Amino acid sequence: MNQGNGDPVTAPDRYALLAGTLGTPVGIPAVGVSYGTGEAFAATPGLTVHLATETTAEVRSTENVVAESRTGRADNVVMAGAHLDSVPAGAGINDNGSGSAALLEVALQMARTKPVNKVRFAWWGAEEASLVGSTFYVNSLTPQQQAQIKLYLNFDMVASPNYQFGVFDGDDSAAQGAGPGPLGSAQIEALFEAFFAARGLPTNPADFTGRSDYGPFIAAGVNIPAGGLFTGAEGVKTAADVAKFGGVAGVAYDPCYHDPCDDLFRVTQKGGDAALYAQLRGQYTLIGNVNVFALDTNADAIATAVITYAFDTSSIPPRTTTATAARSTRTGDQTLQ
Ligand SMILES: [Zn+2]
Repeated sequence: MNQGNGDPVTAPDRYALLAGTLGTPVGIPAVGVSYGTGEAFAATPGLTVHLATETTAEVRSTENVVAESRTGRADNVVMAGAHLDSVPAGAGINDNGSGSAALLEVALQMARTKPVNKVRFAWWGAEEASLVGSTFYVNSLTPQQQAQIKLYLNFDMVASPNYQFGVFDGDDSAAQGAGPGPLGSAQIEALFEAFFAARGLPTNPADFTGRSDYGPFIAAGVNIPAGGLFTGAEGVKTAADVAKFGGVAGVAYDPCYHDPCDDLFRVTQKGGDAALYAQLRGQYTLIGNVNVFALDTNADAIATAVITYAFDTSSIPPRTTTATAARSTRTGDQTLQ
């Protein structure tokens, strides 16, 4: 049943029919009810419910879109990716229209360059269904082809309305959650941090959870250094965040995360908290669920990283066979970004 907290008028998504995401198929049908129905069930002593369900479990196909530069060293590939799918709940304009669109614009601009290193862009299919596209891609490469990928950059949610400037914590300097990324990830983090510092903008370390398409790249045995940007999902903005980025404390970085209101239009009619979005619009320019300043800044950060590595990856240390960061990249039932 839905959680039923908050004001039913401004947060109807907390009361509506619950439609969760199962990361992997389960052996029994899983159904959800609204808060009101669940409450009525719970308040009825001795209740017996007869439930008829019509569910579908089937194999579906999806596609990755991969494009690479004509020029550049094929043995020193710079790769950048963003997932192209959304959750079934809606359009997913922040998750991940934002990362996909920013990366597409960088790819279009990069077409005018002749990079020294081959630059390969990927828009992944079915990330939300358990990193299907990126996992298939990485597993389809030979060990030699994996070794030729110098680094991987991931952009999944870069325009959260109540944003933070999150940079993947490659060196685990924040000592939170998962450990550091593979050797070289710290240097990628440093490049992004230098970009934001040059603009006088603060950043937050984003934990290397493996919850997005970089997971298969950093997995044990593959060990491709990775980095990226993340403006926040269901995590709650703190007072310290507000001091750095403005916005509203005590609510999610993306209050419409994985909800129908993660949309370019009619956010508050699609379940977005009207009062909260009015508050956010008082501080930021929002288009739908997209924070324009966060998107614009992060698009520049993406462009900076891609063009830098397209011409020079000397800051990334060479991989050695002993440099195996033994870590698990997947953590069970966590929701994917
Ligand atoms: Zn995502």
